[in-house]
Amino acid sequence: MSRKEAPASGAAGAPRIGMLGGTFDPVHLGHLRSAVELHEALALDRLHMIPAPQPPLRGRPQVAAEERLALLEAGIGDTPGLYADGRELAREGPSYSADTLAQLRDEYGPAARLVMALGEDAFSRLADWHAPARLFDLAHIVVMARPEHSLEPTARLEELIGQREVADAQALMRSPCGGLLRLTLPSRMAISATAIRQRLQEGRSVRYLLPAAVERAAVSRRLYQ
Ligand code: ATP
Repeated sequence: MSRKEAPASGAAGAPRIGMLGGTFDPVHLGHLRSAVELHEALALDRLHMIPAPQPPLRGRPQVAAEERLALLEAGIGDTPGLYADGRELAREGPSYSADTLAQLRDEYGPAARLVMALGEDAFSRLADWHAPARLFDLAHIVVMARPEHSLEPTARLEELIGQREVADAQALMRSPCGGLLRLTLPSRMAISATAIRQRLQEGRSVRYLLPAAVERAAVSRRLYQ
């Protein structure tokens, strides 16, 4: 998207843009309900949900990136403010979030409030990511609490966090980047893609763990069997 196509800015001026990256193998209601509640909690103009073709720190996803993007599009449907963004599929090599955030920063401009959201499980490994300090130069980081996961930061993660943590969304949104906010969203859901893949493989029900359209597509295309 070019800068002139950027959505209208919020009341305080600069646009509020979120990014939720992931494997989405497949997208599930834990992702989507968190995305809706994050959009609401931060009063975002738009939340880009971005599948990684080959996440650097984990094994090869079970399903091709194009297929995962199609499931994400089906799962989002007409949900206001959420956007299935396939930009990383066009990129050669590993998908680094710093590169994706740099692109978004370029598109929305220096004043935009840019937020990278991730669950506690992903955040606990942040210090191992490519160029982790650069992430804070480009965006705020919002960590979503996840049931069945707890966060015990390593010394390297503590060092990265430094004095960045703020108390609430209002404080975060006073600047374009550099802050850290931990959020407990209202409907925390103990749903994981790992459990869904396992259930599909075993021929067990995944009803109400996934949007109906994603379940239909996964079952009819025998994606995880
Ligand atoms: P897997 O079980 O294959 O590791 P996952 O369910 O954790 O997958 P990912 O695609 O790896 O899904 O997650 C993308 C992002 O969404 C990560 O930051 C992850 O922490 C977050 N996330 C995933 N599931 C939930 C959930 N139920 N609640 C809140 N955040 C979630």
